[in-house]
Amino acid sequence: MSERTHDLVIIGAGPAGYAAALRAAQLGLDTACIEREERLGGTCLRVGCIPSKALLESSEKFHEAQGALAAHGVKVARPKLDLKAMHGRKDEIVTALTDGIAGLFQKLRVTRYAGDGRLDGPGRVVVTGADGAETVLKAGKVLIATGSEPADLPGVTRDGDRIGDSTTALAYPAVPESLIVIGAGAIGLELGSVWSRLGAKITVLEYLDRILPGTDAEIARTALRFFKDQGLEFVLKAKVTGAEVQGKQVRVDVEGREPLTAARVLVAVGRRPHTAGLGLESVGVATDRRGFIPVNGSCETSAAGVFAVGDVIGGAMLAHKATDEAVACVERLAGKAAAFDPALVPAICYTDPEVAGVGRTEEDLKADGVPYRKGVAPFRANGRALALGHADGRVKVLAHKETDRLLGVHIVGPRAGDLIAEAAAAMAYGASSEDLARVCHAHPTLSEVLREAAQACYDTPLHG
Ligand code: FAD
Repeated sequence: MSERTHDLVIIGAGPAGYAAALRAAQLGLDTACIEREERLGGTCLRVGCIPSKALLESSEKFHEAQGALAAHGVKVARPKLDLKAMHGRKDEIVTALTDGIAGLFQKLRVTRYAGDGRLDGPGRVVVTGADGAETVLKAGKVLIATGSEPADLPGVTRDGDRIGDSTTALAYPAVPESLIVIGAGAIGLELGSVWSRLGAKITVLEYLDRILPGTDAEIARTALRFFKDQGLEFVLKAKVTGAEVQGKQVRVDVEGREPLTAARVLVAVGRRPHTAGLGLESVGVATDRRGFIPVNGSCETSAAGVFAVGDVIGGAMLAHKATDEAVACVERLAGKAAAFDPALVPAICYTDPEVAGVGRTEEDLKADGVPYRKGVAPFRANGRALALGHADGRVKVLAHKETDRLLGVHIVGPRAGDLIAEAAAAMAYGASSEDLARVCHAHPTLSEVLREAAQACYDTPLHG
């Protein structure tokens, strides 16, 4: 058994772990990163953000070629789907990005260990390789960045084929004739959109009485209307109690309703923290009721010298939250002043139209009795949106009634995911809705709709 010593040992190389490793190395720490998968980059790069966005873009192109391009005067003969090529393109993007992380590890001299990492008493981490060989690492500090995995739904056993999770749905070998998506969060809606555009009949079952939990309710209601117009079917307040493969179909049982059937089922009911076999008990790292690792303001766990970041600690389970939290954590470990504000993490659903938000929702403000003003502007009057042929949706700006400080911005519309960055930056600098409205915005751009909504919030929109 070999033994090595490092200033910082990181377990997991997803957006939290690899970002922590790169930043720590930049700041001069002798850094090691343990990853059990062959490719670096975690859920996000391998089976999450990146492959899903690749399929969203490709399926949108196919969909446009089938009809929407004709409105631009571009006539396309009946387009043919080459799903193998579509998956191939997705895999190439994943390979380029994961190789890029491996290259950066080499450049910055991050020591990479392949295998399963586990804590083994204070300051000790053991790596078990695929061949069973163990390496003991002595660590000044340990950072847990082991992320998350798809959550189970009682009564529904995933077989990795007909009843699968997001990873299965990113690689269906053929377009299913029908697909039941259990869960109307971002992952379910994005992958449901992909397969709908490629020809599958989609039914989304959601336990709650709304889609996109956590999103501003008014914006989510508008999005639901657009998704229904696209042909996606929704059953809200649907409690799924079981699923069974019956030949080439899956039967899904829903409390108080007739069972539904489809060729495939995608279980997308959230994600749970990845902590099994991590040896947390060996150093006294506590977990909460749901298995997440609680941390203090410096991301330190209940065990001194052991830190945790990313999905494994809960909060917004998003790649950019994981990265920013990880970077702030290692900067503090390296003696720098660093802060990360979890209240200003934008959240995006990359459907068509996209749905994006940052800050408080209108429901949050009402619940907390915060006095607010609201400004709304539609995309339909925006020249750029009309030129793009994507003019559905609107921007909603929420600001404090007395101080005018921006409290939340919510968008359903074209490129909402890109537009929300301006709102996040303004909020990070404590801007008011008037500040945002008085910034000169280029014409014609979609960002003018954000400006109009800000104008509507503090005064009157120019085009209102
Ligand atoms: P992970 O990315 O899960 O990385 C953890 C890593 O640790 C993994 O590589 C794992 O193999 C490794 N590991 C775990 N245990 C051990 C161990 N004991 N030893 C060694 N290695 C270990 N987020 C967004 O912000 N935008 C999106 O568009 C988006 N789309 C998504 C789409 C899908 C289909 C999915 C599933 C997720 C999506 N997410 C998105 C969420 C995003 O992927 C996660 O929030 C992000 O990956 C969390 O980063 P992390 O580093 O905390 O964990």
